[in-house]
Amino acid sequence: MARLESEIAEQRASETLATTDRQTTIVTVGELLVEFVSHEKDCALERIVDYSGPYPSGAPAIFLDQAARMGASTSMVGCVGDDGFGRALLGRLREDGVGIDAIQVAPNLTTGTAFVTYHKDGSRDFIFHLQSTAAEHVVFSPEAMPAGDLVLHVSASSLGPPALRAAILDAVEAVLDRGGRICCDPNARPELMRDDEGKKALEMIVAKSFCLMPSTSDLGFLFPGETEEAAIEHLLSGPAEIVAIKRGSDGASVVRNGERHDVPGHRVDEVDPTGAGDCFCGTLIALLMQGGPLLEALRLANAAGALAVTRRGPMEGNSSPDELTRFIESGTAPGGEQPT
Ligand code: ATP
Ligand code: MG
Repeated sequence: MARLESEIAEQRASETLATTDRQTTIVTVGELLVEFVSHEKDCALERIVDYSGPYPSGAPAIFLDQAARMGASTSMVGCVGDDGFGRALLGRLREDGVGIDAIQVAPNLTTGTAFVTYHKDGSRDFIFHLQSTAAEHVVFSPEAMPAGDLVLHVSASSLGPPALRAAILDAVEAVLDRGGRICCDPNARPELMRDDEGKKALEMIVAKSFCLMPSTSDLGFLFPGETEEAAIEHLLSGPAEIVAIKRGSDGASVVRNGERHDVPGHRVDEVDPTGAGDCFCGTLIALLMQGGPLLEALRLANAAGALAVTRRGPMEGNSSPDELTRFIESGTAPGGEQPT
């Protein structure tokens, strides 16, 4: 009897291990920062106006926060300073269920910051303070990664600073060596593309990704002169199985193994568009990694992107599955916005 009990206990332990091993953890490596958003358009960060913040931010963090809210297992590799901004970031990520064990606290550095203002035509001005702050003090160590299947998400905007690029390239190699997968938002910022190293890193990562999520402007930048169809074919000619196209207020599309879906954008009042792309990608990947159907993942990601723009602050418009379902079914965003 005692033997049977110990056998059962052993079997349970190995089942638990197997379940943990099967679960996919989504990982990001990159910048953590807080953002201050001006309340007046066209101030160009030159005039004295009201700002609010500190809003938790950083593309990899916005993405992962949304993935965690959608129920995915997550782990963020990054660094904050031992200050109020760092505590604000850690507190928010912990609250939303993001794995923060691999986030370092650098005692002698301050947390990264950014200031942003919008213009009436929708464009924005940023001033980033990342250099020499904790935001760029990121070191990837494979031992800090959880057991089991891994998907590493790379936001191309993190590939500019050499220290972040080096940590991300280390992570790509380690995750692929472990049999994990890479997905990528190739947000092809012109300032990144002027840098040869950044461009080379992005091309290498795109060529190794199983899922790519460009916006329409990224397609124009990556494949100048090509039609959208040709650009999608181009992306699918490598190892990528899934290509999602983000179209801002016009919605989004997704293609996987010849299955294609297109959804129109929801009609909402755009308050702060920063983070919509990360929020879309976090929703899509989290649902696909949990075995969700492609169309359902796209519909929820499209709704998540729309809700994201209705809130001031890059991560403030992230949402839970319930909020997304209510938005899609009732036609009303929590702030009263009407989707189409
Ligand atoms: P970012 O500006 O954060 O870099 P992006 O350019 O990568 O984002 P977008 O296409 O702007 O990505 O937004 C991602 C998704 O969010 C869109 O595909 C759409 O589903 C949704 N979305 C974005 N802006 C709006 C909007 N104004 N109205 C409705 N939906 C939107
Ligand atoms: Mg955008």
